[in-house]
Amino acid sequence: MSQTQQQIVLAGRPDGWVSEEHFALQTTGVPDAGEGQLLLRHHFLSVDPYMRGRMNDVKSYVPPFQIDEPIVGGGVAEVIESHAEGWSKGDLVVGMLPWSEYSVAAPEGLRKLPKTKAPLSWHLGILGMPGMTAYVGLIEVARCQPGETVFVNAAAGAVGSVVGQIARSMGCFVVGSAGSDSKVQHLTETLGFSAAFNYRDQSDLRQVLRQHFPRGIDVVFENVGGPQFEAAISNMAVFGRIALCGMIADYNAERGEMPPGPRGMTQLIGRNVSLQGFIVSNYPDAAGKWAALAQRLLETGQLTYQETVADGLAAAPSAFISMLKGGNLGKQIVKVASE
Ligand code: NDP
Repeated sequence: MSQTQQQIVLAGRPDGWVSEEHFALQTTGVPDAGEGQLLLRHHFLSVDPYMRGRMNDVKSYVPPFQIDEPIVGGGVAEVIESHAEGWSKGDLVVGMLPWSEYSVAAPEGLRKLPKTKAPLSWHLGILGMPGMTAYVGLIEVARCQPGETVFVNAAAGAVGSVVGQIARSMGCFVVGSAGSDSKVQHLTETLGFSAAFNYRDQSDLRQVLRQHFPRGIDVVFENVGGPQFEAAISNMAVFGRIALCGMIADYNAERGEMPPGPRGMTQLIGRNVSLQGFIVSNYPDAAGKWAALAQRLLETGQLTYQETVADGLAAAPSAFISMLKGGNLGKQIVKVASE
């Protein structure tokens, strides 16, 4: 194809907070699909907190992005040309895609999407990696039981909002924290959380959690780290479980400044608390279980879903930065092309 397209590459590595100067929008050619390959037209791209870690030149469970190479993340696309057996023009797929309008891929790294009524973008959120993260962390890692007490932070975001709703569907007492009054209102009024608070307004987070959980917290779904994590550690119930999902408060720390670990860890010993980190991709067997549960909760109205959608590929860097600063309600998505 001799057509051109836009792509976004990593222009520099941030030291501390990421800004738009760390990305560059470029015009490039649409690649040709060879034998066994697919030409994809991108519909939606996902911006996720873990992508901030890939901007650093450090070894992790996913390799770093390279300077002048496209940013890569979750995306939903349509096959517009197929040179691979079993794949046809019009197939819809989800997989890791470059931040561009088109790309060429081998089928191996892609999953064909079933024809359902669900909007395509949901496969990057509630029906995709973030929804599955909520399920894995709450059920498989923290082994949450019906009727238990649950605390989740970043609760109005993609993962947290699903955690709270699954736990409510199990009859749990669920408290969420978020960074604005309107998010707090959304948690209790729309998502059915038992209670919620704005962490930015609180001078004593330990005391806030003590008031909400006078008998202690059975399950903490930790998305944030920092002072909220310390406050949760101080309020655990005996035999409580902490699913350590993310520590977004630290993701933009300056290079070489390892944020100090949480204080008060000795309290976990006496209370027999378990703390387990996890990466959702290490739990592939949970996908079917989450798909079935999500369908049931959606059908019975126990699960609702919000998205914040940025329009156009060029808006991806600002959408990513906004999400890291709390600008999103629900899942932050970038719409690249119309369905
Ligand atoms: P969200 O949709 O929740 O967006 C991130 C949110 O984090 C923001 O909206 C903001 O909400 C909150 N936040 C940012 N900085 C801070 C801070 N300093 N203190 C408190 N809250 C903050 O993102 P996701 O749902 O996609 O991800 C949530 C967490 O889950 C992240 O830590 C992510 O890395 C982790 N994750 C882990 C996975 C795993 O396999 N372990 C997989 C997927 C996600 P607010 O306005 O409330 O501040």
